[in-house]
Amino acid sequence: MQEADFDFYSSQNQPPVLEDYNAFVSNRILKDAAHAYGADWIHPQAVKFGAAMGSSAMQQAGFLANKYTPVLKTHDRFGNRLDLVEFHPAYHEMMDVSISAGVHAIAWTTDKYGGYLAHSVLSYLKQQIDEGTSCPLTMTFAAVPSLRINPEIADTWLPLVLSDKYDPRPIPWYDKNGLTFGMAMTEPQGGSDVRTNTTIAAPAGGGIYYLTGRKWFCSAPMSDAFLVLAQTSGGLSCFLVPRFTPDGIKNKLYFQRLKDKLGNRSNASGEVEFHGAWAQLVGEEGRGVANIMEMVRHTRLDCAVGSAATLQRALAEAVHHCSYRQAFGETLINQPLMRNVLADLALESIGATVLAMPCRTSSPPTLFV
Ligand SMILES: Cc1cc2nc3c(=O)[nH]c(=O)nc-3n(C[C@H](O)[C@H](O)[C@H](O)COP(=O)(O)OP(=O)(O)OC[C@H]3O[C@@H](n4cnc5c(N)ncnc54)[C@H](O)[C@@H]3O)c2cc1C
Repeated sequence: MQEADFDFYSSQNQPPVLEDYNAFVSNRILKDAAHAYGADWIHPQAVKFGAAMGSSAMQQAGFLANKYTPVLKTHDRFGNRLDLVEFHPAYHEMMDVSISAGVHAIAWTTDKYGGYLAHSVLSYLKQQIDEGTSCPLTMTFAAVPSLRINPEIADTWLPLVLSDKYDPRPIPWYDKNGLTFGMAMTEPQGGSDVRTNTTIAAPAGGGIYYLTGRKWFCSAPMSDAFLVLAQTSGGLSCFLVPRFTPDGIKNKLYFQRLKDKLGNRSNASGEVEFHGAWAQLVGEEGRGVANIMEMVRHTRLDCAVGSAATLQRALAEAVHHCSYRQAFGETLINQPLMRNVLADLALESIGATVLAMPCRTSSPPTLFV
């Protein structure tokens, strides 16, 4: 072959990019799960959302948000505290599409049977393009049962939490069109053992406290408000800590740094300090773990859905690749040993999907029938 004949600019025997497919329509197990657990009504919405999630635009957004990761801006040019997180526009695009579709809200806003499953179906589709944005979505979704513990908080906050508007502006929550929530329990000295928390809450009357302490983990630090554990004279208690106080002043919570994580990179996870931060008690003093667990367990059920979704995306990529790639004179998908590998992957994916799809609408959701 002459150099002039050599093709440097295109690759042979490589698959086309897997994009512009419908992530719901192409997934029989997911459709069957929606049917089996009584949430057929989600189909039209899931078809629309599945097309959006399989589109090349959203696939690209997932890549970009993970390549250009969040940056913490602690101060402005003149030394004033900001405590903001800057994201690539692709991150905001994914949040906007997901909140408009009701990923965070549908479980709580529908009056139909199967709301929790409908949420899981939409989350499963969403997680296949990016896990990171799924953190603030699931935190916001999962905060609802904890916020409902306190009727005054529920009346004030839930209409904006359940809104279908994504509003990332860092302004007082009551001036916004939609809100997101984060969560801060873990401290350096205790990890899972939150009984060792040292963050303290000083009562100021009327259910209002001022928090002082440090958290080792605060998910979604750009959120409008956080559920936080702190010690009171009655024991460990759960507090709502907004980014702005009810007077519209920046609350005294200060983000120190973002975690440098192996995965989940499009998502910001931060360390935060409270220097007398304004906080509202959610339930009773001493019931902090029980109160925040209402939120935690819902995030963890979403983790099961997210893991199943990641498996499904990997399976789809593997089957797609093997449907085009040839080796030893045959398309890989027709090679017996490769078929065994793909069948194993498919079984894992199907099993995870069926196990992750909860089957009840009412709280508490269960994973098994
Ligand atoms: C990406 C990410 C996001 C996070 N987001 C948040 C958040 O939003 N808010 C928040 O508060 N925290 C968050 N966390 C922190 C998370 O809750 C803690 O990492 C978790 O509680 C474990 O604490 P630890 O890492 O300090 O481990 P440790 O508690 O020190 O545990 C170390 C090991 O011991 C095991 N272990 C612990 N207790 C027991 C026991 N009783 N019996 C047997 N084994 C045990 C654990 O499984 C682990 O393997 C996040 C963590 C990560 C990685």
